[in-house]
Amino acid sequence: MDDCIFCKIVRGEIPCFKVYEDRKVFAFEDINPVSKGHTLVIAKRHSQNLWEIEEEDLTSVQLASKKIALAIKKALDPVGIACMQLNGRGVNQMVMHYHLHLIPRSADEPELTLTSWELRKGDMEAIKKIAERIASAI
Ligand code: AMP
Ligand code: ZN
Repeated sequence: MDDCIFCKIVRGEIPCFKVYEDRKVFAFEDINPVSKGHTLVIAKRHSQNLWEIEEEDLTSVQLASKKIALAIKKALDPVGIACMQLNGRGVNQMVMHYHLHLIPRSADEPELTLTSWELRKGDMEAIKKIAERIASAI
C-alpha cells in the first residue's frame, strides 16, 4: 500500500528501530512505547486487520512473536509480556496495517492498565445466548 506508514517502514522509506526481519515478518520498536521494549510485529504483506489477514501471514506473525518475546525476556528480564492487537477504529486501531503489540512490563514499571480490568460477574443467560450466536456464525 503506497500511503501505509508500516508498508513504508518495511520498504525502508521511513526509519525505524528494527529488531527482527524474515521473509514474511518485520518487527520494530513502537515510538510511543507503553513500556520499555514495546515492540510491533507485522506481516510484510499489507492487510488491515484480523478479518483481512491471510492465514499464512497470521501464522508467520505468531511464530515470529514467540521468537521476539523470548528475546525480550532474555534482553530485558520483564515480569510479563502482554500481547495485544486492535481491530477497527472503534477500538482505537490507529494504523490500519495488522500489527501485534508485544508490551513487556519490567518490575520497576507501573502495572499496565490494559491488563488490569475489573472482574464483574456476568449474566449467565446472556453469555449463553451470545456464545450460541457466535458459535452458529462460525
Ligand atoms: P494501534 O492503535 O494498535 O493501531 O497502534 C499503532 C501503534 O503504532 C501506536 O502504538 C503508535 O505509537 C505506533 N506507531 C505509529 N507510527 C509509528 C512509527 N513510525 N514507528 C513506530 N511506531 C509507530
Ligand atoms: Zn501497510
